Amino acid sequence: MLATNVWRRALGVDRATVIESVEFDEEADAVVIHVRPRRTTKRRCGLCGRRAPGYDQGEGRRNWRALDLGVTLCYLQGDAPRVNCPEHGVAVAQVPWARHGAGHTRDFDDQVAWLVTHTSTSAVGEVMRVSWRTVGSIIARVVADARAMKDPFEGLVRIGIDEISYRRGHKYLTVVVDHDSGRLVWAAVGRDKETLERFFDLLGKERSSLITLVSADAAEWIASVVKERCPTATLCADAFHMVAWATTALDEVRKSIWRNARTIGAPRLIAHLKGCRYALLKNPDHLSERQKENLSRVASVNKTLYRGYLLTE
Ligand SMILES: [Zn+2]
Repeated sequence: MLATNVWRRALGVDRATVIESVEFDEEADAVVIHVRPRRTTKRRCGLCGRRAPGYDQGEGRRNWRALDLGVTLCYLQGDAPRVNCPEHGVAVAQVPWARHGAGHTRDFDDQVAWLVTHTSTSAVGEVMRVSWRTVGSIIARVVADARAMKDPFEGLVRIGIDEISYRRGHKYLTVVVDHDSGRLVWAAVGRDKETLERFFDLLGKERSSLITLVSADAAEWIASVVKERCPTATLCADAFHMVAWATTALDEVRKSIWRNARTIGAPRLIAHLKGCRYALLKNPDHLSERQKENLSRVASVNKTLYRGYLLTE
């Protein structure tokens, strides 16, 4: 007798899946569970889930790898008929236990996707007994599924736009982050107007108008696209670049004073400036007593330099 409820629990399938029989396939050295969708979930397009007239039997019965039963491999086996969807044309019918186009059950996919966020792809492949390539296609499927359920652009108010280099600075990505959630929202190869325009095309007019703040580096191509696509947003410099620019500017001021002092031959000023470079570049909370002294000397000796210092803080 088949304890259907026990099997359903063990396999993690709900009542939309009918378990017909269970056998041990000696040749495949695996448990094979014969399944079919319940009548109400039959004949739906695998792409959109809408009801559609039947087309043919497709390629007949097929296997979906399920999570192992202890140490034994396990497959769900069922028909994979095709339907004729008014929107998608001929497509394999939806099955309740797996994603469209998958060779693995939903739970198997989910477990692989969870594991790759915690360990290497090769380790996941080994423990789940699938190829490296299969791990990749499972990730793509789970991500696409999650994306379809949640709009990554929803509720964007404060964003950051930046460019990052890869392949040792030979190639660039334009990335968009959500400052409120800290999430990466979008990324694409390239760093120019056209690349960033693609992001705003996807975002659409309505959602672009809800953006209040955009942080970016000083790149002109970013500024011009932001100005055009979300004119109501405030464009500001991001903290990282602010500090970098201010530090560079401060060092420039210090160098020019140093050069002047040398040209006019002011040995006392040169002596005072010596050793204050690190005090100027350091976070004030981390200054040693001696460096603080240097700084106060800078304050009295040269107003321009000290003003530069105050600006960076
Ligand atoms: Zn469809």
